[in-house]
Amino acid sequence: MRTLSILGATGSIGSSTLDLVRRNRKDWRVVALSANRNVEALAALAREFAIEVAVVADEACLPALREALAGSGIEAAGGAQALVEAAARGADMTIAAIVGCAGLAPTMAAIEQGGLIGLANKEALVSAGGIMTAAVTRTGATLLPVDSEHNAIFQCLQGNCSRDVRSITLTASGGPFRDWSSAQLAAATPAQAVRHPNWDMGAKISVDSATMFNKGLELIEAYYLFPVRLDALRIVVHPQSIVHSMVEYRDGSTLAQLGPSDMRVPIASVLAWPARMETPCDPLDLAAIGQLTFFAPDEDRFPATRLARAAAEAGGAMPAVLNAANEIAVEAFLRGQIAFTRIAAEVEHVLETFAPCAPQTLDEVLAVDAEARRRALALMPCG
Ligand code: NAD
Ligand code: MG
Repeated sequence: MRTLSILGATGSIGSSTLDLVRRNRKDWRVVALSANRNVEALAALAREFAIEVAVVADEACLPALREALAGSGIEAAGGAQALVEAAARGADMTIAAIVGCAGLAPTMAAIEQGGLIGLANKEALVSAGGIMTAAVTRTGATLLPVDSEHNAIFQCLQGNCSRDVRSITLTASGGPFRDWSSAQLAAATPAQAVRHPNWDMGAKISVDSATMFNKGLELIEAYYLFPVRLDALRIVVHPQSIVHSMVEYRDGSTLAQLGPSDMRVPIASVLAWPARMETPCDPLDLAAIGQLTFFAPDEDRFPATRLARAAAEAGGAMPAVLNAANEIAVEAFLRGQIAFTRIAAEVEHVLETFAPCAPQTLDEVLAVDAEARRRALALMPCG
């Protein structure tokens, strides 16, 4: 039996992870779970899995959490520092499933313990790529990618030599607005943006998928995770989301990982790594799917991947700046403050006007993130 902690337990990835754990109770002892503010869901999960500590990131929710856990013997904690302390308890495996750069400090705290880290929280890696990968090397932690594309690449790299890799191709569904004109995109609503055709995900990543910032963040994520040059990292639009990504080797062989569009598949491969486990996912029926199609991305309608590639090329603080500006712009779009097409425009503006020195420490990354947010907020109509 192994111990498991989930940062961001009440979200889409957290729920899918716990669904698998629920089916394999004998393999896992859940130690710590966290949520931002959803006390009710967190307390129910804490009791169900009889965990040690439940943490709400928003300290104002701590009294309600204490009340909800009264008599259970489960410790209730609240606030950013408590989240870091819970992550540092050193479970055998930590699933980093908080959304946004808010997950960076607790994810780093888990990495410092040197265990297995299932990384879903791509914004944390994008913001602190070099620092995070250096910490992984220093502590002997193992970073296992949960993101379906990176999980696919990770699987396709197994048993091969990294110097034989010629290129890596990330597949992109293209999101709900794949075929929309620029005029239609300008009028896209939050409700339309969060309705993804293939995946059931949290609001922020759904908007990122619609703008293609998700693929941009994933490009940077892949750059930090895998031994590949930026010019050997490609993106192809694949609307069916069946081929989750591909690795091309120098002999001309391309290995791909295929599976249903269900995050429980990559999560299961992380939970069981290096073995395999059963999932309740529908088997892949290629005859029923019929066709798999592939297109080049359109960076005129969707500039996000171009911006992300430029930020990765610039390196240093720029990926963190891009991520922070995008987080603010997505929140503003979801609040109805800015048009869909302003998201990329605001991010580009912040990238053009803010070029801080490369951060060397976690605190410096957080300072860059805070300043980029402040600048992005200042651009918003009510900022
Ligand atoms: P979600 O919004 O469904 O859940 C986010 C979780 O983080 C929740 O538990 C929430 O309470 C917590 N949280 C939110 N804000 C927080 C804050 N400021 N401080 C601490 N905790 C906070 O998001 P999701 O879709 O599960 O995505 C989580 C991460 O996984 C994201 O980085 C996303 O890009 C990545 N990811 C998600 C999917 C997917 O299918 N949902 C696929 C690939 C990668
Ligand atoms: Mg993905």
